[in-house]
Amino acid sequence: MKKNIAAAVAVALVLTLVPGPAAGAPAKPKIAKEKRFALDWLSRPETIEKFGRISDRIWGYAELGLQEFNSSKLLADTLEAAGFTVERGLAGMPTCFVASYGSGKPVIGLLGEFDALPMLSQKGRVSKKDPVVEGAPGHGCGHNAMCTAAAAAAIAVKEAMDAHGFKGTIKVFGSPAEEIVASRPYMVRAGLFEGVDAVIDNHSSSGFGTGYGVGGNALFSTIFTFKGKTAHSAGAPWVGRSALDAVEIMNVATNYLREHLPLSQRLHYVVLEGGEAPNVVPDRASVWYYVRNTDERLEEMYERVVNCAKAGALAAGVELADVRVISAIHQSHSNKAAAELFQKNIELVGMPAWSDEEQAFAKALQKELGAKETGMPAEVNALEAPRSGREFVGGGSSDVGEVTLIAPTATITFPGAAPGAIGHHWSNVACWYGSAAWKGLNAGAKAIAASAVDLLTRPEELAKLRKEFEEYSKAHPYKPFLPADAVPPNDLNKELMDKYRGLLEKALAEK
Ligand SMILES: [Zn+2]
Repeated sequence: MKKNIAAAVAVALVLTLVPGPAAGAPAKPKIAKEKRFALDWLSRPETIEKFGRISDRIWGYAELGLQEFNSSKLLADTLEAAGFTVERGLAGMPTCFVASYGSGKPVIGLLGEFDALPMLSQKGRVSKKDPVVEGAPGHGCGHNAMCTAAAAAAIAVKEAMDAHGFKGTIKVFGSPAEEIVASRPYMVRAGLFEGVDAVIDNHSSSGFGTGYGVGGNALFSTIFTFKGKTAHSAGAPWVGRSALDAVEIMNVATNYLREHLPLSQRLHYVVLEGGEAPNVVPDRASVWYYVRNTDERLEEMYERVVNCAKAGALAAGVELADVRVISAIHQSHSNKAAAELFQKNIELVGMPAWSDEEQAFAKALQKELGAKETGMPAEVNALEAPRSGREFVGGGSSDVGEVTLIAPTATITFPGAAPGAIGHHWSNVACWYGSAAWKGLNAGAKAIAASAVDLLTRPEELAKLRKEFEEYSKAHPYKPFLPADAVPPNDLNKELMDKYRGLLEKALAEK
């Protein structure tokens, strides 16, 4: 990465935020001095460079959920060095942390993710599929920039608190393993969000925006393990009982089940274990399911999927030895008053000015993907309202949903990806490295910091969020889907990460 990127990014961002003093130029928008301080701090080239480099480093580590040892440490150390008190290894997860600054009420929480996805390795700013390490993980959802944006915003708020003497507490919730939707129900269960008055979530995107209402799907993530009896597959197959048969029968049964489920459902699986050679009857097999539906429909659907597993075991004459819930989460219930406040700050910050190189890269990538060659977006999004009476609100899920039910929460999406880049795909990995990612995460950090300053300094704004939340909670009291005996899947990605960590670190060192 060349040194001059930060300066170029700073110029592009400052120009969009602060109209120049030239004659006839529009006057600066009226911004409270505390907010102005935080925004100016984030506009400094050294700030942009520092957090840009952190984001790029996490992108290079490309660590899978609950294996994010380097990423988590880099972020926690950065916050600690800035004066935050950091607690690490929380809620039974070594890579979960909470960083706090200030004291007393109000308490404003920022969520931050940092995990990668399997199989997506890709070189940054290259518009054709070209992995850094073939088969290795990659940041195909921009999570490398997300906790980075939250950390930058939190430190900007801290600096503004020090300079202007306003009170309250700012917390960064370092949330591992969002991609396997694992951490938040465990973090909630551990009480980490107790006493938090409002939460600002963020997610990378191509657009700069926010929204409210119910979105996404609730989910059970569960591994079903079957145990049978091994035998010589040709010599004495009648002696054996194949655990893999049970997996296959279960999958056939769930695929028939789809016909009789409302359209809001999503159901998918991968086979984790299915034997090692055709001539040995597999005595152990397992399949990992995502069962998704609305909050109201999830538990009934899940029970029917468990019944398919039982049917598989019965038919194959094997034992359903383990039903391990990895995680279970709700839909997102985003707070309208929060989104309205965040929207004002998104509009205040505005879309970064993209360079010719960034536009050219976006168009080349769009061409490669067969998408519209529109380049990078020019305007921020309008506030996204839920469509009333809509049956389908989204296929995917986020464990942020869990947090939305225990504190007023909304998500700021920040730009950086080329429109048309595909989520959980090499094209997204290509976008989340380098200058456009630096600009996008900096714009996101500004909107987060500005919103946090508002919530800390304007009690009437926070009161609007709280009032809406308290009324909503009466109709939607929080009851976890996560079984009480579930434990975080700390080793789920260990083998994969052990395979690729050294190769990724070697590539990072050669950069
Ligand atoms: Zn994501």
